[in-house]
Amino acid sequence: MYLINLKDTKIRSGIPDPVISKLDQWLSNRKYNHRRYILPEYFSDDTYEVDYDTARKAMYWAVKVGALETNYEIHCPRCGERVEVVNRQLDIPDSVDCECGYDFNPWHNQEHIIISFNIRNK
Ligand SMILES: [Zn+2]
Repeated sequence: MYLINLKDTKIRSGIPDPVISKLDQWLSNRKYNHRRYILPEYFSDDTYEVDYDTARKAMYWAVKVGALETNYEIHCPRCGERVEVVNRQLDIPDSVDCECGYDFNPWHNQEHIIISFNIRNK
């Protein structure tokens, strides 16, 4: 165990221990420059036994136990660029200016907000 303390599994809901162990191992093995903006499908694509839904649930659980933090990546609805990243939903601004010249309200463009995860530095 490296990132995740298995005693924390007491507070989890419905994620099998082998999935937690695999997630821990998978996160621990990520290169330094691949430790941010992690999407659940990266884990499920790399891990035969884990489907996307399970990967997503396991990552949200890892946020609860402090191994990961959440990113809300705000992408421009016009050009697709990532304009801003915040770690808490309540920090999503109601106005963003993209370099392409488009100003928009992320709350009205939630399909362009991508949730990803960073490994927390211990
Ligand atoms: Zn743009």
